[in-house]
Amino acid sequence: MTSRSETLFQRAQKTIPGGVNSPVRAFRSVGGTPRFLERAEGARVWDADGKDYIDYVGSWGPAIAGHAHPAIVEAVREAALKGLSFGAPNEGEVVMAELICELLPSVEMVRLVSSGTEATMSAIRLARGFTGRDAILKFEGCYHGHADSLLVKAGSGLLTFGNPSSGGVPADFAKHTIVVDFNDLQQVEEVFKARGDEIAAIIVEPVAGNMNLIKPQPGFLEGLRRVCTQYGAVLIFDEVMTGFRVGPQGVQGLYGVTPDLTTLGKVIGGGMPVGAFGGRRDIMQHIAPLGAVYQAGTLSGSPVAVAAGIVSLQLTRAPGFYEGLTASTQRLVSGLAAAAAESGVCFSADSVGGMFGAYFTATVPTSFAEVMGADKERFNRFFHAMLDAGHYFAPSAFEAGFVSAAHSDADIDATIAVAREVFAALG
Ligand code: PMP
Repeated sequence: MTSRSETLFQRAQKTIPGGVNSPVRAFRSVGGTPRFLERAEGARVWDADGKDYIDYVGSWGPAIAGHAHPAIVEAVREAALKGLSFGAPNEGEVVMAELICELLPSVEMVRLVSSGTEATMSAIRLARGFTGRDAILKFEGCYHGHADSLLVKAGSGLLTFGNPSSGGVPADFAKHTIVVDFNDLQQVEEVFKARGDEIAAIIVEPVAGNMNLIKPQPGFLEGLRRVCTQYGAVLIFDEVMTGFRVGPQGVQGLYGVTPDLTTLGKVIGGGMPVGAFGGRRDIMQHIAPLGAVYQAGTLSGSPVAVAAGIVSLQLTRAPGFYEGLTASTQRLVSGLAAAAAESGVCFSADSVGGMFGAYFTATVPTSFAEVMGADKERFNRFFHAMLDAGHYFAPSAFEAGFVSAAHSDADIDATIAVAREVFAALG
């Protein structure tokens, strides 16, 4: 019998390219039919056929408090009743900006936008305007949204499509983007020695989450800080994924390295479209209308989205929030690794706060090359067996996973129990 997801997918492909509005959703790398989701609550999502899943995607990060948290939904309802959008300043934006500046000491001023892509694109423009330089340095496998100059050797969907960059990006734009290996400080230093006075910024996912999960090696982030200070380049931490996900002050708090600019998204919108970029006051003052770097948005600081974001951030401030989230995520990764070991499956797993990596590699990878060496075919079989059994992991071997505060120990243990059987069958 044809499922409703299959029917909807067929229908969607007639009017939406690939049937999806963001490529990874299409299940291209794992094969099969993407589940059309109808409803989500807490740690669970329900598909169009009424089947429920324990969800480890969490809308790719935002759902840190669990899906449809009642306090967030209520804040959205209340805000919507007062008007969906004003195109004029409103108090919620100020509260949100104050909250971000209070929570992240490196952020003295912040501008709200509507997506992570806008945040990184604007931060890059700002760094270029501030320094008067054109080049930027990024790392292979790091994804920073889909602005032209950042689509060079990027991660996420571009990895699963085996397409290191995108059509439609003029070589004249891409030539300003220098790409080196994540966790290889020596390469960074060599590039700066040769071209340091041309480079406006280093942009980095300080814990990489778009080539599965890769932690920075000791000294890597500190080295980036040192090089940027030495050469007058702007250090941008793209914390769209990691911000308020790995801990109360993002990666910068966890590793004690202070960027000049930070980009945010996902958690700060609590499921609504919100992004932000912020940082040093002297840099942020170059943004229009104070300065010459233009940046704008009809729906920026949307009162409804901001209402959701404020509550999302407030929920993370509950005592023990990150301790609980971190412990749940560790419970999942250690349980998965132990289950795989029982069956002798070549598998490893790691986590930082509420995000995790699950790799079909013998040891936890520390580089892009190592992650690309994972057994993709085995991952695909694992993914589908878990999905069939009601456990929804990211449909790609190269994406990080997410746990929420709504995941109970029982949810996680149920996932591990199923994984044990799946690993045994993978053998
Ligand atoms: N930066 C990072 C680190 C991301 O993970 C993402 C999205 N996954 C983006 C930027 C782009 O954000 P958005 O999809 O909201 O445009």
